[in-house]
Amino acid sequence: MQTSESFCLTSPGSTFKKLPSDSGWSSAILFETPEEIYCRVYRVLKPRSEVPPVEIRFEKFAGVNSFIRLHDGRLLVRITDLLAAAPSPITEALAYILLAKLFRKKIPAVYETRYRLFVNRRDMRKRAQVVRQERGRKLFRSPQGEFYDLVEVFESLNVRHFHGLMARPALGWSLGRSRTRLGHFDPCHNAIIISRVFDQFHVARLALDYVMFHEMLHLRHPVEHSGTRRCVHTKAFQAEEKLFPQYQQARLLLKSL
Ligand SMILES: [Zn+2]
Repeated sequence: MQTSESFCLTSPGSTFKKLPSDSGWSSAILFETPEEIYCRVYRVLKPRSEVPPVEIRFEKFAGVNSFIRLHDGRLLVRITDLLAAAPSPITEALAYILLAKLFRKKIPAVYETRYRLFVNRRDMRKRAQVVRQERGRKLFRSPQGEFYDLVEVFESLNVRHFHGLMARPALGWSLGRSRTRLGHFDPCHNAIIISRVFDQFHVARLALDYVMFHEMLHLRHPVEHSGTRRCVHTKAFQAEEKLFPQYQQARLLLKSL
């Protein structure tokens, strides 16, 4: 079980939502240890079962990830060390999120919102980006593929659509041939990674051009944050994407991969 974030071509454009109100925190939680918080939340979600021993460790993960599992009658919780100094209400919110996922229950919106607001704070995002850069290991292949060279693809789009002015990030083919994650821009490593599914003889150049163009627009249109929502494909992004020549034809080609 984990919570994580990523950018990818397949994620639908999101819109900003109104936030439910988050009031009425219990003051008692300010005096609980993380273990006590998990025990209490466990009792709320599973009132009829006995609470197992809880073991919580803060780990140096490469992102804002946290994991939970039941093993040998013990509840093991591994939380990103980015949250080690988080206020108790945030630990409580994460406990609800992880335990609800573990028991396949609906996560109460109030906790989901509280947690998201916290991790989307500017200072938290900055720290998360730094640890991703330092700890994350991005594995992708060289941009020179078997059929297409991503540097050439990037630069020819750069000339046609960006007056040749876009600074070239790191480029690479993905390790696998994913059909669901066609491409993504990784801002931490300043890299565009394209699925190797496009590096094949029968794949039309137009499809590859379109995916690369989409990822290049991510360089130009940063993600917008508003409360808990991240808007990856902003209105300006979408408007510019539609300017791609043969936009509809390219979208159709992607469906037939
Ligand atoms: Zn995208």
